[in-house]
Amino acid sequence: MARYNGPVCRLCRREGVKLYLKGERCYSTKCILDRHGYPPGEHGDARPRKASEYSAQLREKQKARRIYGVMERQFRKYYARAAKVKGVTGQYLLQLLERRLDNVVYRLGLAASRPEARTLVRHNHFTVNGKRVNIPSYQVREGDVVAVAERSKASIKFKALAEGLKQRATLPWLELDAENLRGRVLRMPLREEIDVPVQERMIIELYSR
Ligand code: SF4
Repeated sequence: MARYNGPVCRLCRREGVKLYLKGERCYSTKCILDRHGYPPGEHGDARPRKASEYSAQLREKQKARRIYGVMERQFRKYYARAAKVKGVTGQYLLQLLERRLDNVVYRLGLAASRPEARTLVRHNHFTVNGKRVNIPSYQVREGDVVAVAERSKASIKFKALAEGLKQRATLPWLELDAENLRGRVLRMPLREEIDVPVQERMIIELYSR
């Protein structure tokens, strides 16, 4: 599947918010957004204009896509699926994004960023309910156990990770077993537990045009 392979910090600058795509670096003084907050290009947008309703909605959608690392076609499929469900479409859309295996790996602290989680999943480092799964978009369900594969636990990377995880607090919808490098999905996340800077209502308005 096609992926964005350009400089990721550029995406944060485009959206004007931290999308946390580079792990540790995002929390350090090296984050370029903290140093140069203006949009990409040598001098940013030299002629700032008032955003139209459409462009504001578009930016919200692009932001969500970039946070979760989802291409347009797949994102539209998530929307179509969310729109079929009774209830708040925007909330369900975010839940579908949160239920991606790469996101759950990141949320559990088993990877430093979503892009890293995606790579680790693709490289066969994770199991779901004991079975190897290498599809980052795999949708986890309530009760699923996501774990680092037995063979991968011996690697230096995951050994170091196990130490750091012991002090880590997890989200209320997930349960982490730091010693065994695994976690369980207790339930679906509530909207207030999804800390992404996205106004999902605007995404729904964009797709409903
Ligand atoms: Fe975004 Fe992280 Fe780059 Fe900062 S360091 S601009 S948060 S990807």
